[in-house]
Amino acid sequence: MGRIVLDKVSKRFGDVEVIPPIDLVIEDGEFAVFVGPSGCGKSTLLRLIAGLEDVTSGQIRIDGNDATNLAPAQRRLAMVFQSYALYPHMTVRKNIAFPLRMAKLDKAEIDKRVANAAAVLNLTDYLDRRPGQLSGGQRQRVAIGRAIVREPAAFLFDEPLSNLDAALRVGMRLEISELHKRLATTMVYVTHDQVEAMTMADKIVVLRAGHIEQVGSPLELYRTPRNIFVAGFIGSPR
Ligand code: ADP
Ligand code: MG
Repeated sequence: MGRIVLDKVSKRFGDVEVIPPIDLVIEDGEFAVFVGPSGCGKSTLLRLIAGLEDVTSGQIRIDGNDATNLAPAQRRLAMVFQSYALYPHMTVRKNIAFPLRMAKLDKAEIDKRVANAAAVLNLTDYLDRRPGQLSGGQRQRVAIGRAIVREPAAFLFDEPLSNLDAALRVGMRLEISELHKRLATTMVYVTHDQVEAMTMADKIVVLRAGHIEQVGSPLELYRTPRNIFVAGFIGSPR
């Protein structure tokens, strides 16, 4: 579960076509990275998949079902926001449980899922702390925990590490890659950082001014960049 298909999806804000019609397939279990310069449409594309923006045209299918007009909560996708989106007055436990309380799951089920997520993320000993009493990396893990408990078909990340310092970023990159291996769930990850893309992705989608320049594995893009833009962006020798 977690195959995402974009079929001629486009997005217009007023008179400006930010995303011209594009086709893209993200396979079940794949780690897909959208990479490209600031303003190229990475966040917009992710928000279209999440349902936080309506498409102007085209169709989005998730596991074969037409999700184009589904509300975000009905898409079984979890958006991971940066760690500063945590509630500072709530404990780690309550922050992680929050989406489940909103969905009115019963307490035993909530407790079970929170305990599982905390175990996966090494947060078990921190459940009664508040975000202000955690390190930056631990806070980011709480933000991920809040997505895990929803048991989504796919995780969507929008530059989750951009407000962490360089050393912490490297550690979190590894943690997210580990998590992907452990959960085997589709992840779609937005970044403007080539190194993140090259080290984390199964599939890299290089965006430029809203359109897809090239899609491929890190090795494919490195060895056979389609043009100078991709080569320059990926850092390959062409
Ligand atoms: P990225 O995440 O790659 O930096 P965005 O997806 O945020 O790029 O933005 C792509 C383009 O769409 C930019 O030119 C941005 O100004 C424009 N844009 C994004 N959101 C809106 C909006 N709600 N209304 C109008 N223009 C927008
Ligand atoms: Mg963005």
